[in-house]
Amino acid sequence: MNKPKIVVLGAGYAGLMTTKKLTQNLLPEEAEIVLVNKHNYHYETTWLHEVAAGTINPNQARYMLSDVVNPNRVRLIYDTVVEVKKDDQTVVLENSDITYDYLVIALGFETNTFGIKGMAENAFSIVDIDSSRLIRDHIEYQFAKYNNEEEKDEDSLTILVGGAGFTGIEFVGELAEKVPELCKKYDIDRSKVRIINVEAMPSILPMFDKDLVEYAKKSLEDRGVEFRLGAKIQECKEDCFVVGEDNEEIKAGTIVWTGGVTGSSVLSKSGFEITKGKVTVNGDLRAPGEENIFVLGDCAWVMNEKEGRPFPPTAQAAMQHASVCANNIKALMHNQPFENFVFDDKGTVASLGVTDGIGTVFSGTKLRGKPAATMKKVVDNRSLLLMGGTRTLLKKGKYRPF
Ligand code: FAD
Repeated sequence: MNKPKIVVLGAGYAGLMTTKKLTQNLLPEEAEIVLVNKHNYHYETTWLHEVAAGTINPNQARYMLSDVVNPNRVRLIYDTVVEVKKDDQTVVLENSDITYDYLVIALGFETNTFGIKGMAENAFSIVDIDSSRLIRDHIEYQFAKYNNEEEKDEDSLTILVGGAGFTGIEFVGELAEKVPELCKKYDIDRSKVRIINVEAMPSILPMFDKDLVEYAKKSLEDRGVEFRLGAKIQECKEDCFVVGEDNEEIKAGTIVWTGGVTGSSVLSKSGFEITKGKVTVNGDLRAPGEENIFVLGDCAWVMNEKEGRPFPPTAQAAMQHASVCANNIKALMHNQPFENFVFDDKGTVASLGVTDGIGTVFSGTKLRGKPAATMKKVVDNRSLLLMGGTRTLLKKGKYRPF
């Protein structure tokens, strides 16, 4: 008899962890497991702002899937998912099709520009290794170019970042660290370089308490980051943001949009019912009305019934989805009762560069400065260990003392 086929789409936090859990939960003869991913590597999405700023090497933030997945248990397919044909139980890939008995959709996020004119065309986004490496190289090119020009464009050294949420603030924190190094390397006076963060809301990092937010803002300002808060971006042109009622132009040589993300567009293309780009899943993480399709990570809205709103999309939640999903696939195969997802919030830590950060951990303990930066490295290394195992942790872990 043919074994049932479980197909996992996406090898990020949710997809790779689900795959690993399935190999633990099920015997080889119980199911065939297939993992489909665009690249032959997994990357740590939560480290991409460091890749984009150039404070870590892109290779530190990724590792080969074949090194961490047992090839005797899992078939790896490196291809791009185009669409899920639910009626045919088939996934259309760029280069082939694959059928499934059970499907896990964990394709992560895409940039959301909220229709701001010119943003998609003119701003960079931090989405994956390729897009982050491009930002790093573009910034470095602006520095390399500067002293070669007879008529200097003083705005070319300005880095403009749209959005003061988690990604935007962690990114400017890394830039504050990297810019002095680039100035030294390319013989440029630090005063010529501007890092400007533009945000429509009156404050940064809305997920943290006011005292931590004030600490973060002051720390970044002390290291040369300028904030334009309450400034709505009307348009993004090739060389500037157009901001506010009076259409002020803020010019720059590098423009990065970090102001919004949404679930993979494969979801809407495949006919799932979508709210703000994501599928509102049942408590067991299945898509509504679908017997055999689970949607995880940044593709899913998982409702916090107590608070009447979805849990925030985080790597922490994505990895927890994976355990519940793998257990529920086993339950489905064995006609057993399902588990409902309950988020175990271990806290949130944001980095503000290599040696600084803020965080709330262990049900309310607040951290700032080096203790927060240390905790961030513990969190990052823990994720490496859980996803990639001991060898990956030893090879790629963050151990640099400060
Ligand atoms: P991902 O980890 O993004 O994985 C999606 C996978 O699917 C990728 O491997 C991708 O290549 C693949 N894929 C996508 N489309 C296709 C396709 N069409 N075909 C084939 N493969 C495809 N969360 C935290 O908890 N803590 C943090 O400190 C934190 N910091 C962050 C910093 C940054 C810069 C960013 C961008 C996010 C941060 N987050 C953080 C959020 C966190 O990274 C996401 O919530 C998490 O990555 C979601 O996991 P996922 O498995 O759904 O998606």
